[in-house]
Amino acid sequence: MSAITGPGLGPREIPDLADEELADLNRDFEHRSASEIIGWAVDAFAPHLCLTASFTDAVLIDLAVKADPGIEVVFIDTGYHFPETLETVEEVRRRYGLNLRMMTVARQEEELWAKDPENCCSAVKVGQLDRALAGKAAWMSGLRRAEATTRETAPIVVRDLRGLVKVNPIATWSDLDVQGYIADHDVPVNPLTLRGYPSIGCMPCTSPVGDGEDVRAGRWRGKDKTECGLHVM
Ligand code: SF4
Repeated sequence: MSAITGPGLGPREIPDLADEELADLNRDFEHRSASEIIGWAVDAFAPHLCLTASFTDAVLIDLAVKADPGIEVVFIDTGYHFPETLETVEEVRRRYGLNLRMMTVARQEEELWAKDPENCCSAVKVGQLDRALAGKAAWMSGLRRAEATTRETAPIVVRDLRGLVKVNPIATWSDLDVQGYIADHDVPVNPLTLRGYPSIGCMPCTSPVGDGEDVRAGRWRGKDKTECGLHVM
């Protein structure tokens, strides 16, 4: 165990998980529900825990606020989002009374995304995530294995490059699982998902997806880039 403190918070004992313990957890979590995995993360790490959201839909948020209504939800406002995404952020914030932390990026002078998307993502997204995760012990994301071939082996729990524990509670969910949960729980979705955008990022780097393509096939289409760097282990 190690002690961690945050603004206005006393020390809290956080488990130091060895690599073997993370491997054991991964094996166990393959057979657990998303709610059980989130419950474990909240018990182990809250309040030094947050989740990051792209606001393609609010499935992970719906699950997480049931375990911890005050959980911090981080959204990186790159300045390049679709208006529909920003409207979804506001709708979800109101619906759940979210503890929303907007990481707002100053609009760049030049269109770096056109010339050098790798550096654009690093400067705009990864830099803001690093700021958002300062003082945290763990974070959660809605990453799923079914989203792309490059994500097929994604773990459910892992140590990230910062040394923090990263939890992907719905890593094992199929597209049908997501659609079923949205219908069963009346979960808000970004309206662009109904117009051919099953994965939504920044406007200049997101295009619609055709039948039979990966969910993330419209991200950086035509470029040798598949990830923004937020989920690099
Ligand atoms: S997705 Fe595109 S616009 Fe957004 S940060 Fe990355 S390169 Fe820049």
